[in-house]
Amino acid sequence: MSALVIGAGIVGSSVAYHLARRGVPVTLLEQGPAPAAGVTRDSFAWIGDSKADWPGGARDLREYVLADHHRLEAELPHTTLRRTGSLSWTGTPAEDARPGLELGPGQFRIGRSDIAALEPNLRHPPEQAIHTPSDAGVDPIALTRALVAAAVAHGTRVLYNTSVTSLQVTKGRSKGVLTPAGPRTASTVVLTAGIGVSQLCEPLSPHLDVAASPATLARITAPPGLVKAIVARPDFEVREVQEGELLLVVPHVEGSAALARSAQLAFQRLKMAFRGSEQCRLLGYRTGRRPMPAHGPVIGYATRDRSVYVAVMHSAICLAPTVGRLIADELTTDRPAPELKRCRPSVAR
Ligand SMILES: Cc1cc2nc3c(=O)[nH]c(=O)nc-3n(C[C@H](O)[C@H](O)[C@H](O)COP(=O)(O)OP(=O)(O)OC[C@H]3O[C@@H](n4cnc5c(N)ncnc54)[C@H](O)[C@@H]3O)c2cc1C
Repeated sequence: MSALVIGAGIVGSSVAYHLARRGVPVTLLEQGPAPAAGVTRDSFAWIGDSKADWPGGARDLREYVLADHHRLEAELPHTTLRRTGSLSWTGTPAEDARPGLELGPGQFRIGRSDIAALEPNLRHPPEQAIHTPSDAGVDPIALTRALVAAAVAHGTRVLYNTSVTSLQVTKGRSKGVLTPAGPRTASTVVLTAGIGVSQLCEPLSPHLDVAASPATLARITAPPGLVKAIVARPDFEVREVQEGELLLVVPHVEGSAALARSAQLAFQRLKMAFRGSEQCRLLGYRTGRRPMPAHGPVIGYATRDRSVYVAVMHSAICLAPTVGRLIADELTTDRPAPELKRCRPSVAR
C-alpha cells in the first residue's frame, strides 16, 4: 500500500509517522509552510486520562492515552512530556468539597496545605482542589515537528504550501486528490485536515458534522518554575510549556476589542494569583478553531467505496499518538481496530 495524508497537524503527523514506521510509502500534503500550521499550534496541550468529559468512542481510547505518549517520548528524540500533574478547582468551596463529586481514576481531593506545597507561588491557595498526579503536558508544536521529522526519516515525503482542493478517485485502484500543482495518487487517502475535513468531504460524505469551535490561548514569558503544575481555575488555565514560557487559556469572546480585554484580564488575574509574577510579559494571544465532531472522534472510511479514510476529533493532542498507532495498524493489516468501533463515520448508502 501507499498513502496520501492530508494535513500536518498533530493527527496527520502521527498517522504519517506510524504508517511510515510500518514501511508504508507516505506523502504528507500540508497547505501551510510548516507542520502545526492549524489549531495544533494554538493548543494548551494538556495530556491526561482523568477528565470526566470523553464523548462517544473517545472513552474507548482513554486507557491508552498516557501509555502512547510515554511510548512516543521514548521513540522520538527531543520530545519531552512534562509530568507536572494538575490542580483544578471551581472557585466554589462547597462544590469542590461536595462528597458526591465524582473523581476520575488517579484523582485525589487535597486541602490547602498540600496545594501550597505543590504550587508554592500561589498567593491564595483554595480550600480544596482536585489533584491528578498523572496529568502532563507537551509542547504541541515541538511534538508535531518531531513526528514529521521521524516520518521523514522513515521515508515520508512532505509537501508544504500544497493545498488539496478536492478529493477524487482516479486511475483504477489508486485514490487521488487534486492540488493546484496537479493530481496526486496513492492506494489510500487519509484526511486529517482538522476543520478542513467537512468542506473536503462534503461532496462525498455529507453526513460528516464537524463544528469549528473557537478557543483562545495566550503566551507569556515568566520566571522559570513560577507555575509548577497545570493549574485549572474557573477564570483561567495555565501551565509552563517550556522553561520560562507559560500557556494561558483565555475566556473566549467574539470581537477583537472584547478579546483583547479578555486576554488582558486573564493576564492580570494570573499576575495577581502568583507571587513573583512582576516580570511576566504577555507575548500575544491567538484564537484557534478546534475541530469538534458532535459525538466524539470520527475515524474510518468516510465513503462506501473506501476512497477516503478520515480522522478528526477534539482533544487530539491527547488522542493523536493512540489514534495514529491504531489507524496504521488497521490500514496495514486490513483488520478493523476494535478500539475504534464507536468512532466510525456514518456512511451514506
Ligand atoms: C486554546 C486551545 C486549547 C486546547 N487544549 C487542548 C488540550 O489541553 N488537550 C488536547 O488534547 N487538545 C486541546 N485542544 C484541541 C487540539 O488543539 C486539537 O484537537 C488538535 O490540535 C487538532 O489537531 P488536527 O491535526 O486535527 O488539526 P490541525 O492542527 O488544524 O491540523 C490540520 C492541518 O490540515 C491542514 N489543512 C487543512 N485543510 C487542508 C487542505 N485542504 N489541504 C492541505 N492541508 C490542509 C491545516 O493547515 C492543518 O495544518 C485545544 C485547542 C485550543 C485552540
